[in-house]
Amino acid sequence: MKILVINCGSSSLKFQLINSEDESVEAKGLCERIGIDGSFTFKPSNGDSYTKEVDMPTHSEAMSTLISALTDPDNGVISDMSEISAVGHRIVHGGEDFTESVIIDDNVIAKIEECVPLAPLHNPANIVGIKSCLEYMPDTPNVAVFDTAFHHTMPESAYLYAIPYKYYRNYKIRRYGFHGTSHSFVSKRVAEIMNKPYEELKTIVCHLGNGASICAVKDGESIDTSMGLTPLAGIAMGTRSGDIDPGILEVIAKKENINVCEVTNILNKESGVYGLSGISSDFRDITKAISEGSEAAMTAIDVYVTQIVRFIGAYVAILGGVDDIVFTAGIGENTPLVRQKVCDRLKYLGIELNYDHNNVRGEEMMISTENSPIKVFVIPTNEELAIARETVALIS
Ligand code: ADP
Repeated sequence: MKILVINCGSSSLKFQLINSEDESVEAKGLCERIGIDGSFTFKPSNGDSYTKEVDMPTHSEAMSTLISALTDPDNGVISDMSEISAVGHRIVHGGEDFTESVIIDDNVIAKIEECVPLAPLHNPANIVGIKSCLEYMPDTPNVAVFDTAFHHTMPESAYLYAIPYKYYRNYKIRRYGFHGTSHSFVSKRVAEIMNKPYEELKTIVCHLGNGASICAVKDGESIDTSMGLTPLAGIAMGTRSGDIDPGILEVIAKKENINVCEVTNILNKESGVYGLSGISSDFRDITKAISEGSEAAMTAIDVYVTQIVRFIGAYVAILGGVDDIVFTAGIGENTPLVRQKVCDRLKYLGIELNYDHNNVRGEEMMISTENSPIKVFVIPTNEELAIARETVALIS
């Protein structure tokens, strides 16, 4: 079966066409700057990759562009869109309604719309992606895979905030957590690598990308995670602050004479490693600056590492011990310096890093020694493949 995986952002649309038989990627690509000037990148497995400027005023034109590319007689990978058995959509927020992936119908779209207040930047774009697919492929089943679903197993004590209970009752304000597809994918994979039953492991997953979250997985279920009602919570990220004292909002608002939305915008876009260093949100720039002696970059990475160590310590307590720790996503997979700094501070747990193995980038590897009582791994995440697998399971 050929499965089209769609990940729609507010001005972007990422896609992969995955053959479910051998799980190969037949083509992938990206529509960027939708509604601005439009840029389209296409990478077929058996042809030449290209990037070109395409006017894409809305996601509908982006959809039409990707369909033309996939079915292009010269450089495409299929002759007709009917070859696609189903479309799997990454949906950021499923609220409390969606505890697992579902086949999309009008009722599901309405419920995803109800979750818009919980993810005002992401869910509207996800809905546009679904509607574009329904427009161009009305007879093809669509499946929604939610970033929040894996965390539905968190106990009430982990998901409730200590604020008046009526806010949970009336507005569903609680911890939801994100990156669930990734946390689920790599925590299952580590069980396979360790050759242990998934249902018997205590795993801490550090998903460190532009957005970053840490998850405590016990017996195959998420029992706590660092992101909250929104993806702003948890550890410091590229441009996001992560957890801060909530009192800071009022202090900054008063000092700068701005409103709470403007402060939140600063916490989302001008904070984190970028805000601390004043250099970049990208760890390639940060590690380069460190090698050139930048104290600001060093401070930023020290704060970042400390916050990861703090969450790992907390989750060892929540889990009642830990069998393995996994690093994944852009930074987790590609930045040995961060992994080394984190693991060096976890020596008290007995963790022993294999410094040679830790030099790995973007490849599956056990980076602790064989003797380390807690095993540490780098496992590349693959959210698209996880979405394709979920989609196949639902339509079969
Ligand atoms: P997201 O999916 O949240 O946008 P990614 O998982 O793609 O993020 O991670 C992006 C981040 O990963 C970049 O900002 C960069 O800091 C880091 N990264 C990616 N590749 C490398 C690399 N080769 N070396 C160091 N850092 C990298």
